[in-house]
Amino acid sequence: MGMVRKRVLVTGGAGFVGSHLCERLLQDGHEVLSVDNYFTGRRQNIAHLLGERRFEAMRHDITDPLPVEVDEIYNLACPASPIHYQFDPVQTTKTSVLGAIHMLGLAKRLKIPVLQASTSEVYGDPTVHPQVEAYHGNVNPIGPRACYDEGKRCAETLFFDYHRQHGLRIKIARIFNTYGPRMHPDDGRVVSNFIVQALMGRPITLYGEGRQTRAFCFVADLVDGLVRLMGTLDIVTGPINLGNPHEITVRTLAETVIDLVGSRSSLVFRPLPADDPRQRCPDISQAREVLGWQPRVQLLDGLRQTIAYFDRLLTEQGERAVALA
Ligand code: NAD
Ligand code: UDP
Repeated sequence: MGMVRKRVLVTGGAGFVGSHLCERLLQDGHEVLSVDNYFTGRRQNIAHLLGERRFEAMRHDITDPLPVEVDEIYNLACPASPIHYQFDPVQTTKTSVLGAIHMLGLAKRLKIPVLQASTSEVYGDPTVHPQVEAYHGNVNPIGPRACYDEGKRCAETLFFDYHRQHGLRIKIARIFNTYGPRMHPDDGRVVSNFIVQALMGRPITLYGEGRQTRAFCFVADLVDGLVRLMGTLDIVTGPINLGNPHEITVRTLAETVIDLVGSRSSLVFRPLPADDPRQRCPDISQAREVLGWQPRVQLLDGLRQTIAYFDRLLTEQGERAVALA
């Protein structure tokens, strides 16, 4: 049977993950409508797609209703890095909650499936390790991360209530730390920070003692998981963890990046931000079983590709100052 071409809405389409998802959906033969307010996303992330007949980019804030006609929705719009989501915390919660309401309303009117980009942050500073989907989390509702964590938790609640109350076809992906080309160089996330610092020959900033753990998924793997989840039968709603279960300390990440870049950067220690989770690693048994999915890209390969991206970007911007010799 031939592939059915769909018109797919990607909110946050000009962001890091969104731009890769738009690319993948175009490769799969679909029409793609990217909707973004360009708060953290950049036009250059999708500039190479603008000449494509099946691609359209719209500037719009999803805290306002969106009257479009599409066949599927991936709801990714939301700043994802702590610096950006804490910049205007009220707007962050509005984006998650009002954005979810508007996307769910659209999906209800059009009777189409809608996928929510949720997050491992719904587990907060987890007391269960690795994190399974049945774990309800340990989130501080009044801390600096709450605008994001609680916004995303409320969005999950709304998705499930629309599902139970209106029979909506929903899919919830709980995304764990993802990295790759087109991360924002200044968004403060650990992979982009360390790579940029190493390339510039600046000290690598370890928060706390760098003993906290994370597990890093390459963006192409994540996007494949999202597309597989959207393609599941209606009974599959998630939430389902998507991430790479290869857990390392932040210090090991720093040393690995220094090594790969061949940098002379030193390590410096900075205070650990409030509510920073001490450990995080996904249990991806469900994704393996239900989606037949698991990450393919090894950390070293993914980091090499990401380093090459930032190297190009900094060179173009004339900021690549490090002497590697
Ligand atoms: P990103 O900041 O690069 O992308 C988010 C995009 O949403 C940006 O293009 C931004 O301009 C847009 N946006 C923000 N508020 C908007 C609004 N009100 N209306 C319209 N557009 C808006 O972040 P990302 O890493 O690509 O994350 C994408 C999604 O995946 C987010 O929902 C995030 O919560 C989720 N996620 C990402 C990670 C990760 O490690 N990258 C981990 C967990 C969850
Ligand atoms: N981190 C760090 N140095 C940096 C940026 C981040 O040590 O320059 C740490 C941060 O404290 C956290 C981890 O790296 O423990 C991952 O941070 P990130 O902001 O990428 O994502 P999080 O998983 O906290 O949402």
